[in-house]
Amino acid sequence: MKVEMNDIVAIAKRRGFIYPGSEIYGGLANTYDYGPVGTELLRNIKNLWWEYFVQRRDDVVGLDASLISHQAVWNASGHTSGFADALIDCKNCQLRMRADHLIEDYITLLNDQNLETGIQNLTSIHHDKRFSIIKTRKVEGLSSEEITLILQKFKIPCPKCSEHAWTEVRKFNLLFPVNMGIVEGDQSLAYLRGETAQGMFINFKNVMDSTRVKLPFGIAQLGKSFRNEITPGNSVFRTLEFEQGEIEYFFDPEKSNWEELFENWKVTMWSFATEVLGVKAENLRWREHTDDERSFYSKRTEDMEYQFPFGFKELWGLAYRTDYDLSQHEQHSKKDLKVVDSQSGTKVLPHVIEPAVGINRLLLMVMCDAYEKTEKRTVLKLHPRLAPFKVAVFPLLSNKEELVGKARKVYDDLKKHFTVAFDDRGNIGKRYLYQDEIGTPFCVTIDFDTLEDDTVTVRDRDSMEQKRIVIKDLSSYLTSQINEKM
Ligand code: ATP
Repeated sequence: MKVEMNDIVAIAKRRGFIYPGSEIYGGLANTYDYGPVGTELLRNIKNLWWEYFVQRRDDVVGLDASLISHQAVWNASGHTSGFADALIDCKNCQLRMRADHLIEDYITLLNDQNLETGIQNLTSIHHDKRFSIIKTRKVEGLSSEEITLILQKFKIPCPKCSEHAWTEVRKFNLLFPVNMGIVEGDQSLAYLRGETAQGMFINFKNVMDSTRVKLPFGIAQLGKSFRNEITPGNSVFRTLEFEQGEIEYFFDPEKSNWEELFENWKVTMWSFATEVLGVKAENLRWREHTDDERSFYSKRTEDMEYQFPFGFKELWGLAYRTDYDLSQHEQHSKKDLKVVDSQSGTKVLPHVIEPAVGINRLLLMVMCDAYEKTEKRTVLKLHPRLAPFKVAVFPLLSNKEELVGKARKVYDDLKKHFTVAFDDRGNIGKRYLYQDEIGTPFCVTIDFDTLEDDTVTVRDRDSMEQKRIVIKDLSSYLTSQINEKM
């Protein structure tokens, strides 16, 4: 059965993965809070990302840069001028949207014939751009006039009230300004970072000077970024603040082949998604950016896309950005960011390949991928590595001291090895249903037989099979079962 976004939003709220932000005050658009199990899941994904891309590699080092940064950083990066997106409002219901998102959501659902005829008729748009839109169903890099033309041609309705009554396209900036200083009139403007990447570029020299790294090497960062996103919907797919995992991989273009590096990163990213996070490969694909869509300084950009319930969407970007970023910062800061080659003594401004992912999108992806609903139950078949709890322990009855005491003892022992939940509310059936919905791979029940023979029932989330296991073997049995699932 096809997973619907409503199902994911419902289970996320019901079971404490994701809550709408500021909910008791009527909510705040595009903000979300993570509940107890969502926090564990997010933390597991972040830890796995850090372990895989930083700790296990000897060519990547970590960084934790400030969230607030000098406005000069964002002038140099082009974000204060170039980060200009098109905004429109519905005159009927006042819904505010990013025009590119509205168009892309609309044309994703058109059949090939209708899309092609509609776009080909718009002859004032350059034919390369038309071709790109038809091929990719993306509209990045279009002017306000071109966007307006598409909105009118397809009579794109408002997703909220279905009217076609859009205002003119206006440009806005996604960066969040911050006023520093407390005295009015004596404040200076800074920005909340719009991406983690700039932290790596402005600290490139610090890292070179303070560590033993040599080209090629990467600087990685995992942390919050902020964008004034106005398009609502689809849970944590697009939010005002989100957790980014980015790597800037620096290399000397004379000594390393960028195409080879690019391909290696593609393989690494793919294995992280499929092997470490356990996502089904058939739900993932690569999509290369067309010339119109790609930033002017990039020689190649590809997105790994996941098939969300609302269509294939960007999960992870991979871009060869040449030496654009470092050269921008050289120009603006007037600092020499070149590296001296130890053999030849020549100076080189490194080029960079950038894999950039949103951790919250990874979380939404793993929830969608793991979700299964049958007549009997709903289950999140999360990879055990990701599951908020690996095991849940239940006493059969909550009012029998001997059972509860014994269950507490088993729980305390297992806690030394796994993340474990304890539950003595309601009946066993309800407890199983609850643990299935939060993705706990194994449930252990302590019953009256346990008091006689020291065995417990272990129930497998996926097969729902139950086995009796002796308590002294329980931890090694669960370890082997979890490893088998991995
Ligand atoms: P999009 O086209 O979806 O806005 P982008 O191309 O602007 O994304 P990048 O700047 O390349 O995104 O950021 C890298 C990654 O960060 C994206 O692939 C995505 O996973 C994540 N990301 C970007 N914006 C958001 C957001 N507002 N909320 C959640 N995740 C985001």
